[in-house]
Amino acid sequence: MATRLSPAGQYRSRPTKGQHNMLRLQAPLPDRYTLATPEELDKWIAAAKQTLGDGLLILGHHYQRPEVIKWADLRGDSFKLAQFAAENHQATDIVFCGVHFMAEAADILTGDHQRVVLPDLNAGCSMADMADIDQVEEAWDEIAAVTDISRVVPITYMNSSAALKAFVGDHGGAVCTSSNAQAILEWAFERGDKVLFFPDQHLGRNTGYTMGYDESHIQVWNPHRDLGGLDERDVKEAIFLLWKGHCTVHQRFLPEHVAGFRAEHPDGEVIVHPECRHEVAELADRVGSTERIIEWVDAAPPGATIAIGTEIHMIQRLAAEHPDKIVVSLDPLVCPCSTMFRIDGPHLAWCLESLVRSEVVNQIVVDDKTAESAKVALQRMLDIKGAPTAPSKVD
Ligand code: SF4
Repeated sequence: MATRLSPAGQYRSRPTKGQHNMLRLQAPLPDRYTLATPEELDKWIAAAKQTLGDGLLILGHHYQRPEVIKWADLRGDSFKLAQFAAENHQATDIVFCGVHFMAEAADILTGDHQRVVLPDLNAGCSMADMADIDQVEEAWDEIAAVTDISRVVPITYMNSSAALKAFVGDHGGAVCTSSNAQAILEWAFERGDKVLFFPDQHLGRNTGYTMGYDESHIQVWNPHRDLGGLDERDVKEAIFLLWKGHCTVHQRFLPEHVAGFRAEHPDGEVIVHPECRHEVAELADRVGSTERIIEWVDAAPPGATIAIGTEIHMIQRLAAEHPDKIVVSLDPLVCPCSTMFRIDGPHLAWCLESLVRSEVVNQIVVDDKTAESAKVALQRMLDIKGAPTAPSKVD
């Protein structure tokens, strides 16, 4: 079963406008997997891994649950995992324990002899699904009708479909991650006067403020309204047109969570991901990408108390790995990323045992044309000089 993109970059079962890309359907698993005990699943996964040997590479995102991440050969954030996939030429089967856009990026960056498998096709990303190619193309046309489009540079966050990365590649833009957004935006402003940044408004805003811009330079583009819900003058004068998208996990963190933690731990430190709202980012001690958060916790002195605004599985893992420090979630009532959470032991065992039988299930395939354009946008990001920079408050 392969999820393919059409030459236009959209899924074959093309969603109608407003439906976004939510039409991935995972077939129910056989009872063997749904009724298995955790011990049985572990045994089957271990046996399949051993049989597949070096031909298999399991990649695990930091937000994966413990019973999945323990099987990962390599662990990382979305970009690091895509790089791992690109650097490994030995594995023919790459099982990606993450979400759909990450598996697409891995397929784009790997060789023709390699297959990328996503254990559960319903592991999407609600943020990535907030911008689809129809909406972005329509926005581009609307912006072109009121301003000089040759001076607008499209920038897409890594957390976006291959179709959007391809659009950006075809229109002179680049991909960015949460660790290099500032360097990418500086590059964009050497080429134009305005950026259309999608799909995460918070990463765009946090980075813009760090670069010295303020609210007078920023407008939010609502894809469900004509001209993004803006008037012509707003579009003409804006320097940042930020797509009205967000991460449902990181947007949960609020200023009152920072206040509550500080009241309880006056000497504690607050670290948040740049997908958090700006009101939270400006109250935090540090704002940085997933990998930076890990580095900061690693470097904190014994006895440090740290509240983190990001996905709960990563926070719990950091707490377990640093018993000499107090590492807690900034929001006491946290919830995991529900789409990352879809990857579980039964799905992992099912796709691995299928590979042992030479049956490839849930292969993610980006068509050649989309992959070629998306690769241009990814390569521009890699070529942009300047050390990776977090959006604000970086050491
Ligand atoms: S944490 Fe947010 S951005 Fe990351 S995969 Fe989940 S919904 Fe998407």
